Amino acid sequence: MKKTDKVLETNYRSYLVINTIGYLGITVHLALIPLFFFLGLEFLSLLNLFSSFMWITGWRANRLGNHDLAITLMMSEVILHTLFVVPMVGWHAGFQFYLFGAIPFSLFNNKFDGRAIILVSIGLCITFLVLDVITHDAPQNLALSAVLIRIINYINIVISFTAVGLISYYFRLASITLEQELEKLAHTDSLTGLYNRRRMQEMLETQKSLSSRNRSDFTLIFVDIDHFKKFNDTYGHSCGDYILCEVAFFMRNHLRQGDALARWGGEEFLIMLPNTDIKGARTIAEKIRKAIAEERFHLGGQEFSVTMTFGLTQHEENASIDESLKRADDALYKGKEAGRNLVMW
Ligand code: GH3
Ligand code: MG
Ligand code: MG
Repeated sequence: MKKTDKVLETNYRSYLVINTIGYLGITVHLALIPLFFFLGLEFLSLLNLFSSFMWITGWRANRLGNHDLAITLMMSEVILHTLFVVPMVGWHAGFQFYLFGAIPFSLFNNKFDGRAIILVSIGLCITFLVLDVITHDAPQNLALSAVLIRIINYINIVISFTAVGLISYYFRLASITLEQELEKLAHTDSLTGLYNRRRMQEMLETQKSLSSRNRSDFTLIFVDIDHFKKFNDTYGHSCGDYILCEVAFFMRNHLRQGDALARWGGEEFLIMLPNTDIKGARTIAEKIRKAIAEERFHLGGQEFSVTMTFGLTQHEENASIDESLKRADDALYKGKEAGRNLVMW
């Protein structure tokens, strides 16, 4: 369902629920106008005209980004409608069931905190009980047949269950999306969008178990940008950030699917190459080293070239991940000592 430009990304979930419930509410109330009219209940027909107007106004408010107003209008309509219709048509026509849907719906109003939602629930419960006391055994003053009342009751049950079902469905969808977003955020480096160190550590442990089971090789590569400080010192911190992002993007494009790339910290990256021995890893590292040294990056009319040093190690079956990381780091150090822009192992 496409949202309008007025709806903020952060409110997309509320928008979606209100929009869907809005369609349901508008359809139901528009349908009730002729139904009540043909049943000779002109007053209720007129009331539904007013209700439809409130639902359409709420639906429009939602599309214009005013979600709390939309929910307030829609909920008020449900309550008012119930208060008018149940005493007129009687308890057994089941119009009071719509009150149930108002409880989960109120959760999407951002202005309602936990206490407000409890108060709304209690208020709706009291309304329901009072209507029961007043109308349950009252003689029905409209000359509607028992069969008709029963049919209306069934229709109301189906529609109110549909409303609660739809709200619950979107609520679940909203929670899942939020969980996924949070998980992604917890695993991602915010500057470069690469995996962060924590995520890479998890992946390394997983790969270690997988490789010992499959008897397959995997290789680790530390990559560190040479003289990175000079970018910060000469052109400012934002230039340094730009170089980090460009380098991250460049490396990601030069790796295969299944390889993992993380920002390990500062201007240091870690590559994990599954099913790759040291020989294969050397070829890959050399290819990236050469390609990046030949690449030119541009920012603010300036041209930059970047070189990087690579430290490789193939994980040995009985070693710990920390031991392998240490060996790759030692290799990187050797590369720096030997003059940088090198692949060492
Ligand atoms: P070497 O060739 O020996 O690796 O030299 P270097 O200058 O690259 O290494 P050094 O460790 O001396 O400096 C790294 C610098 O990276 C220091 C730090 O301020 C900078 N840095 C770390 N994280 C960030 C970041 O997120 N953004 C920017 N702009 N700079 C960062
Ligand atoms: Mg460096
Ligand atoms: Mg460094």
